[in-house]
Amino acid sequence: MHTIILKSYMKNSFAFKAFCLAAILFTAATAYTQNAAFKVLAFYSTDVERDHVEFANDAVHFFDSVAKKKNFVFETTTNWEYTNDTMLKKYDVVMWLNEFAHTEEQRRAFERYMDNGGAWLGFHVSAYNDKDTHWQWFVNFLGGAVFYSNNWPPLAAKLIVDDNMHPVTKGLPKNYLAPISEWYGWTPSPRLNKDVKVLVTLDPANHPFGKKDLIQEGDIPVVWTNTKYRMLYLNMGHGDQVLTDAVYQNKMIVNGLMWVAKKK
Ligand code: ZN
Repeated sequence: MHTIILKSYMKNSFAFKAFCLAAILFTAATAYTQNAAFKVLAFYSTDVERDHVEFANDAVHFFDSVAKKKNFVFETTTNWEYTNDTMLKKYDVVMWLNEFAHTEEQRRAFERYMDNGGAWLGFHVSAYNDKDTHWQWFVNFLGGAVFYSNNWPPLAAKLIVDDNMHPVTKGLPKNYLAPISEWYGWTPSPRLNKDVKVLVTLDPANHPFGKKDLIQEGDIPVVWTNTKYRMLYLNMGHGDQVLTDAVYQNKMIVNGLMWVAKKK
């Protein structure tokens, strides 16, 4: 079979060169995949709020370049039907860029993936939930956090780094000014859950925060992990400024991915 195909290619030297080139490229891609530290599949949507798509597109470019430097496979999709057992088991990390699973099948597949040791990195809207989302497993997964409030317009925010010895936040100062994003408040605060480790919190010095929509008060974690899972949630992810802080925030985001990928 192969010989026949090869002979017919050899009749046409251009086609034969193309065949050889394709074979080399395929081999290179396979070798790259085999040596890669881990594989990430990032899900996003393009038919959601414009500012959320903007961040997702920025994040795709950002992680694409990080993947080349740190030697991991970074693949993206807008097809949420890929949230199924067959697909997810091929990846070490699932990333949600401003969207979450909506159908029952996708939700059950994601639960199985996480319950069986999968890893998740979620940004901004990916953790959104309210009385209409009807997904209690996911609320528990987040440590009990239910969306409660937000600031509008999006603003730069003073943040408190709760623990700058943790692998995700190491080297960050105790306080930094995060680039413009929309910030969410949660009730109850996930900090009240003994399994949750809060890494970064919205500084109460920001309050009252916003103009049209206000975050008035309260304990508002913005980066945390539920230690029962290989998961990290980062609230930043609205608009085109989020990835502009190369000194602190981008490093934390990269550390966050590396940490969930390698956490056992
Ligand atoms: Zn937003």
